[in-house]
Amino acid sequence: MTTNGRFDSAYLRRMNCVKTFSTIREQGMVSRSELAAITGLSRATVSETVKELLDRGFIREVGHGDIRRGRPPVNLEVNPERFYLIAVEIDVGWIAVAITTLVGDIVVQHRQEFGRCDYPFVLETCVRWIEHLLDQKGLGREDILGIGVAVPGQVDLDHRVVNFAPNLRWRDAHLADDLEEGLHLPVLVSNEAMLGAMAEKWFGQGKNARVLVYVSVKGGVGCGIVLDRNLSLGVSGSAGELGHMTIDPQGPECSCGNRGCWEVYADEPAILSRAFQAFSSSRDSLLFQSFSMDSNRLTIEAIITEARKGDPTAVGVIQESGWYLGIGITNIVNALNPDLVVVGGRIASSELALEEIRRVVRERGLQIPSQNVTIVPTQLGSKVSLMGCIALLLDLLLEQPEGRINTN
Ligand SMILES: [Zn+2]
Repeated sequence: MTTNGRFDSAYLRRMNCVKTFSTIREQGMVSRSELAAITGLSRATVSETVKELLDRGFIREVGHGDIRRGRPPVNLEVNPERFYLIAVEIDVGWIAVAITTLVGDIVVQHRQEFGRCDYPFVLETCVRWIEHLLDQKGLGREDILGIGVAVPGQVDLDHRVVNFAPNLRWRDAHLADDLEEGLHLPVLVSNEAMLGAMAEKWFGQGKNARVLVYVSVKGGVGCGIVLDRNLSLGVSGSAGELGHMTIDPQGPECSCGNRGCWEVYADEPAILSRAFQAFSSSRDSLLFQSFSMDSNRLTIEAIITEARKGDPTAVGVIQESGWYLGIGITNIVNALNPDLVVVGGRIASSELALEEIRRVVRERGLQIPSQNVTIVPTQLGSKVSLMGCIALLLDLLLEQPEGRINTN
C-alpha cells in the first residue's frame, strides 16, 4: 500500500483506480462524464480507468443517463453480485466474520464467543465459520476476492504475521499463511486500530480528511494514522502504537514492560477500575448497589448510562477518563496536526467523554493544530474493524493490475 516513487505511473494509475472506484461507490450510479467532472480526471483517463474496472468485473454498465441529449450516456455502478469480500475480527474470547459486497454491504455475518484465545483454536474456529457462511450463501472460492483479518496486535509490513498481540498472548503467529492453507483464499492481516482508520477513510467520516487519526479504546489504546489515502505503517508495520507513549515515567507498569504508558490510564480496563474504586467509596451510588457484589459485571455501557442519568460518581468517572484520553489526544494533535481525530470503542458513545476530550485539547494543545482539528466519535459502531478489513482489501485490490490479491 505504501509507495516509494509517489509520482510514478503505477502510483498514478492506482490513485486513479481508487478515486474512480470510490466515486462510483459513493455516487451509487454515475456516467463517465459525471465521473470526469467529480474526480477532476481527464475524460481519457476516466475512460481508461473505467475500462480496467469493467474488465475486472468490479463495476458494471447499467441503464441510461439523460436521454434528452442525443446519444444517452451509460451509467456505471459497483457490481454488487460478481465478487464478494470476507472480513474477520479477532478479539479476546470472540471472533466476528462477515461476507460483504464490494460496496461493503454485509450479506451475512456471525459472531462467535468462546472465552479463550489460544492460537490453534482461534484459527480452526475462523476456518470453520468462514466455510460455514460460504456454504450458507452458496458462494464458491471463485466468488471471493480476499479475506481481511483485524487483530489487536502488531502485524508485519506484508500483512501476514502477527508479531505480538499481548491481549491474545500471541507471538509470531503466521495467521495469513495458516488461514490461506485452510481456506485456499488470499488473506491479509492488519492491526484493528489501523483498520479503524481505513474504515473511516473509506466508509466513515474521514472521506475528505487529509490527516486522519483513529483512536481505538478497547482492552488497550491503539491508533491508526492515514496520510492522504495511505495508511502509515512505519518501517516494520507497528506505526500508531501511541497507547504506549509515556505520560508519566513513574506511573504504573504497562503490559509492554514500560511504565506510565497512556493506555494504562485511558483504556477500558483503566476506566472500569477507576469506576470500581469511585463507586466503592460512594455507597449511595446506584451503580455501587448494583455491582458491589460482582465487579466483573460492571460495564462501560452501565457507567455511561448512569452518567447520562446524572449520577455524580458516574459523571466524575467519565470526565476523568475523558481527561486522560484528552491528554494523549493533545499529544497526537500537537505531533501530527490532523484535521480529523475519530474516537472508537464503547467510551466514544459518551458525549460527556467527547466533550471533555475536546476541552482538554482546546486548553492544552498548541494553538494552530488544536484550532484546526475536529474530534468525533466513530459512527461505524461495532462494525468499524470489519469495515476496515473491507477497506484494506479494496485498497490493495485496486492496486493490483490483475484485480486479484497476490499474496505470494
Ligand atoms: Zn505500554
